[in-house]
Amino acid sequence: MTHSAQKTQKNLYIKTWGCQMNVYDSHRISDVLKPLGYTLSDTPENADMIVLNTCHIREKATEKVFSELGRLKPYKEEQQKKTESRVLLAVAGCVAQAEGNIITERAPYVDLVFGPQTYHRLPEMVSRLTGERRKKRVIDTDFPVESKFDSLPEEQNSQGAAAFLSIQEGCDKFCTFCVVPYTRGAEYSRSLQSIVDEAHKLVDQGAKEINLLGQNVNAYHGEGLNGSTANLPDLLYALSKIEGLERLRYTTSHPRDMDDLLIQAHGDLEKLMPFLHLPIQSGSDKILDAMNRKHTSDHYRESIQKLRKARPDIAMSSDIIVGFPGETDEDFEETMQLVRDIDFASCYSFKYSARPGTPAAAMQNLVREDVKTERLTRLQELISEQQYTYNKTFMGKTIPILFDRKGKEGSKSAGFIQGRSPYNHAIHVKGQDRLIGQIVDVHITQTRPSSLSGDIVTSEYESSDLKTVVGQN
Ligand code: SF4
Repeated sequence: MTHSAQKTQKNLYIKTWGCQMNVYDSHRISDVLKPLGYTLSDTPENADMIVLNTCHIREKATEKVFSELGRLKPYKEEQQKKTESRVLLAVAGCVAQAEGNIITERAPYVDLVFGPQTYHRLPEMVSRLTGERRKKRVIDTDFPVESKFDSLPEEQNSQGAAAFLSIQEGCDKFCTFCVVPYTRGAEYSRSLQSIVDEAHKLVDQGAKEINLLGQNVNAYHGEGLNGSTANLPDLLYALSKIEGLERLRYTTSHPRDMDDLLIQAHGDLEKLMPFLHLPIQSGSDKILDAMNRKHTSDHYRESIQKLRKARPDIAMSSDIIVGFPGETDEDFEETMQLVRDIDFASCYSFKYSARPGTPAAAMQNLVREDVKTERLTRLQELISEQQYTYNKTFMGKTIPILFDRKGKEGSKSAGFIQGRSPYNHAIHVKGQDRLIGQIVDVHITQTRPSSLSGDIVTSEYESSDLKTVVGQN
């Protein structure tokens, strides 16, 4: 009898790139594989299955996958020799969806390629690779008719105090720079009841905060009660009634779907956290049009005004692309002006780079690299200044922090516990594991450009040696 025949417990290593949707998918991939005996492992050594859950958004995404595959190949070979059984190397996620055939051509030792919409079929794929008539390779990058959400098992592993819940996938907006409509497919929303049921389970497993995920989350339009269609505000009001669920967030939103009902929910719902990530991408209407964003800079300004009226302490965050084809100095100055007008609490900014297969990749009138670099530097200086000014407003204030995990061993947060403020600051506190899973008040005593520090003030946990460090997300 071979080692493999005796072995029922198998190690699963998943490396995840990209957004929170991918983090959620990796979690669910491990749920799907658990009944087959796979248990999550932190390292690729001794893994019986290795999954790379990939992201196509960043530059050179495919090359990064190939270099990781090259690094992991020896682990696969070593483990196969040791166990005398097949070790599966899989590529999942958006790079798999977009470039499945290229992956198997360039890395023939890859056993399995599957997209974001098909991982509920993993048990079948694994059995085709390891069963008696074992296939050399399986590629499943369909957009199946059945929804994966109807086929996924119940959550097996607790996500802890701060959980993700995927409510919507895909996108119908077709921004000219973005691969998502091609890799994740058309918009699909889960039913309101299935989301509420999953939220109850997450709370039963210890979640105090749920972050609703979707590529275009505020376009959510799932089946509601009594055959109606539910929108995101309907869902937020329903979820806010769940006892034990203290905090709600949602990401990522599109400005065009930021309607009055959703803005009203920010004013009505105490549990909806005062933080919103709302990508604008550019402050120039000409560039927004070239990006096919379907909104103007003034529409964005008006939405923020209404949001601040509904929830005065709301912290705004955004994404901005610098150097999109055709962006002139004037266009860029309009972006700078928009950033000054909005005054962001935080903002991600990137230089434009073409994604193969997108309409923008065929555009002429490219912006020179040195011009992009100069513009990005100026923009990031302005954003950092705004972030520091924003952080200074917390001096002397007391804010409730939900602690949800230990700092990672080997990182600078080792020995700390980590949490999040309502405004999405990340926070590290030395020691005290017993605070994990609890919302604890922290008094801010020091502010820095990208961090704050303070002391825990809730009397039960009051301790002079509990100094805290809070980092901007
Ligand atoms: S709305 Fe977002 S996900 Fe959809 S195409 Fe535009 S950038 Fe991509």
